[in-house]
Amino acid sequence: MESENSTAIFVTGTDTNVGKTQVTAALLRRWLISASQADGCIAAIKPIQTGCDTADASDITVYRLAISDLPANRQQCVDVACLREFKAACSPHLAAEWEKNQIAPGPLLEELLAIIRSHASTLIEGAGGILAPINDQEFSMADLAAALNIPIVLVAHNRVGALNQVFLAMAELVRRSLPVAAIVLNQIMEITSLEEERYCEDNVIRIKNRFPLVPIITIPFCSGMPNVRLNTMERHLGKQLPAKFFISQLKVSTSEEPSACQTFDREHLWHPYEDSSPSSPPLPVVSARGVYLHLADGRVLIDGISSWWCVIHGYNHPRLNGAIGKQLQSMAHIMFAGLTHEPAVELGQRLLALAPGNLQKIFYADSGSIAVEVAIKMAVQWSRGIGKPERQRFFALSGAYHGDTFGAMSLCDPEGGMHRRFSAILPQQIFLPRPRIPFGQAIDGAVERQRYEPFFKKYAHEVAGFFLEPIAQCAGGFWFYSADYLELFKRLCEEYDILFIADEIATGFGRTGKLFACEWANIAPDILCVGKGLTGGCITLAATLTTDAIARAIARDGPLMHGPTYMANPLACAAASASLYLIADGTWRKKTWHIEKFLRENLAPLSNFEGIADVRVLGSMGVVEVREPVNRQSFQRYCVDRGVWLRPFANVLYTMPAYIIDDDQLQKITSAIGGWFSSPEKEISAKPCV
Ligand code: PMP
Repeated sequence: MESENSTAIFVTGTDTNVGKTQVTAALLRRWLISASQADGCIAAIKPIQTGCDTADASDITVYRLAISDLPANRQQCVDVACLREFKAACSPHLAAEWEKNQIAPGPLLEELLAIIRSHASTLIEGAGGILAPINDQEFSMADLAAALNIPIVLVAHNRVGALNQVFLAMAELVRRSLPVAAIVLNQIMEITSLEEERYCEDNVIRIKNRFPLVPIITIPFCSGMPNVRLNTMERHLGKQLPAKFFISQLKVSTSEEPSACQTFDREHLWHPYEDSSPSSPPLPVVSARGVYLHLADGRVLIDGISSWWCVIHGYNHPRLNGAIGKQLQSMAHIMFAGLTHEPAVELGQRLLALAPGNLQKIFYADSGSIAVEVAIKMAVQWSRGIGKPERQRFFALSGAYHGDTFGAMSLCDPEGGMHRRFSAILPQQIFLPRPRIPFGQAIDGAVERQRYEPFFKKYAHEVAGFFLEPIAQCAGGFWFYSADYLELFKRLCEEYDILFIADEIATGFGRTGKLFACEWANIAPDILCVGKGLTGGCITLAATLTTDAIARAIARDGPLMHGPTYMANPLACAAASASLYLIADGTWRKKTWHIEKFLRENLAPLSNFEGIADVRVLGSMGVVEVREPVNRQSFQRYCVDRGVWLRPFANVLYTMPAYIIDDDQLQKITSAIGGWFSSPEKEISAKPCV
């Protein structure tokens, strides 16, 4: 049964062996006694159980014991389950490893959310302490609780050292903005001296003083048989838990009514490429972790497009968050005119170490479009610097997309591009035909030269640079073209003294399977634009890089005339350095190869569908081109119902996930795309959508 308003609690501990299982079992009993038949069912779940070498070793036997004396019709309202079991009695990551296994957080999370949604209340008991690792990617119990986004009951053993343990655990929970429903100070051993009794009492007072808004529950030592002890614990909980404790916990609603947030948003906020009150309200997101977006109503979506391709390492990455947090301690921002700072320098060093060719100068910009504007200015000032001021125009490719500001818009495809409404006031650039030979195939060099060289012959005298998205034209239709074109274009640019300007804002940092797409042809650009994945998608930053020689020519014209207020923002630079640190370790390579293989295998069968024009995959990009434009709203609704977030472009359905995505998550994405074509919801819209 789908519950309208589900509540859930995550029981964790300051350490292992603090009595979490008994507290969970006692909470279960309390709920069952205080709720009525009409309140529905409760689930008590142990997501990961270690130390399962005997049949009754699982904590769920304790849950069952705690309610064993209650009427049978009440016991029928309880579901208990253990979702992952391992024999070794140690941390989950190790217990799984010893069984040659890995715990994938994604499927575990989805199972838990499905349980929460189908019960009136759910108790989830963590394994070990709050930071116990679940897998070797450092996904911890705290990450699991955060991903579930449900309140915490923190259990501590009330003894010497409890203050330190509670304060440390609470600091971590506060740092992660995890709501704490209660702290339970559990006396798991008998007190044997007056002195001991005094410091246990003192613990309670100090913890209450430190956290005045959090209910502090004390459970004295309970003796007797296990079931008697559990009943006594339940009575202590019953006396001290605030009234309505269970029903006041986070509600996971399944209502379709727009929330207050959606209503304000709809009335006042613009969204990208939308009219001012779109027909379908945007989905409120309360947190994001890994590849998951957590919606305010409790649903969880796999983000198949990594927030417009920039969240390459996944959301809420501890290294990126840590870098921003650390930088925040010293300064969030200072102007970059006449001042400098370590984050900008460190990022510069990392960027130059990775960048192709001989790029030596960096301009930090605030977004991809601005990086393109800066590249335009660099090329124009370079022309003036080399004494050819008449070279003020640019070559670009049909089907190109380079951004939303005016200079960048002028480089976007003037026919099919998004910016055709503004064409009358845009600088008029020269558009060369879209490369026609697909990626992976060789071009006939002589034939293609004949197609392109006439443009160089005719216009070179007025052209400063050739802008292109190497290998993959993304927002212009996700077209992947032969690497031979890059070689040809580079050669023509050299012959006609035109700057080769690579816009790697979408393709940079591993997206195509190479660090930079230019590497597919072993060429180095004269100017390189990067953005999107530069900061791992956690804060805006882009950069335009060029060579010393070009910078010297620009200097002959005077200073490079651009200077944004937030140039080289230290928080953004710190995040980008951390992201490049992750990139430099090279694991993205194996991951993107694997994603490519998976997408190839799983999207290929779609090419047999009627109505599908092409299926293509490159690196971590999977594209299904449909013969007619797709109705975005109905496709998105279909995907959201299947736990997936995608956003088609006109007639192209595509995925560009974070590199950390696993096979189960990829499967969900490809199944949603594939399922759409045989679903009754499939509609083809009358007009193209962006
Ligand atoms: N160039 C390319 C190739 C892009 O894909 C984009 C964004 N999709 C941009 C430039 C513009 O970047 P931003 O949205 O950060 O301004």
